Amino acid sequence: MRLAQAAAETARAAGEVPVGAVLVRGDEVIASGFNHPIGGHDPSAHAEMAALRAAAQALGNYRLPGCELYVTLEPCLMCAGAIMHARIARVVFGAHDPKTGACGSVVDAFANPQLNHHTSVSGGVLADECGEALRTFFAERRRVSREARRAARLQSEEEQTRAGACSPDEPSA
Ligand SMILES: [Zn+2]
Repeated sequence: MRLAQAAAETARAAGEVPVGAVLVRGDEVIASGFNHPIGGHDPSAHAEMAALRAAAQALGNYRLPGCELYVTLEPCLMCAGAIMHARIARVVFGAHDPKTGACGSVVDAFANPQLNHHTSVSGGVLADECGEALRTFFAERRRVSREARRAARLQSEEEQTRAGACSPDEPSA
């Protein structure tokens, strides 16, 4: 999970929502991935998808039996589907995601035996730390957009003041 947190930090540094994933087989790290849908112009570029793709390439197999996926945030439905297709043995996630979590928070894709026979799920591992990285990121993003709005307002006020001061010929009613 520490490696997944480091991958999340890579996402944060790139201006993406900080989620990271690492795929391991036994003690061996096969691949990692970080969330990058904005930079990648790719709605599927979640951390889990990146790690699954890289691991499948590394192992030359579209199925990854016996592998475990560590991810800092509860997987969404898309990633849960890909995890099932890859036949991942176990998913370990950090923070729960009350908005899109598909491991019990919104839906529980893995609880449906008709969909899934392969994957066990453990959630809430280092949940506070994983969640804190996300909370800090969104708080910072809100602060930046607040400041941008304030700067835009000040600039427009200044322009209006200047326009008033520089228009002495403007006919007065
Ligand atoms: Zn996802």
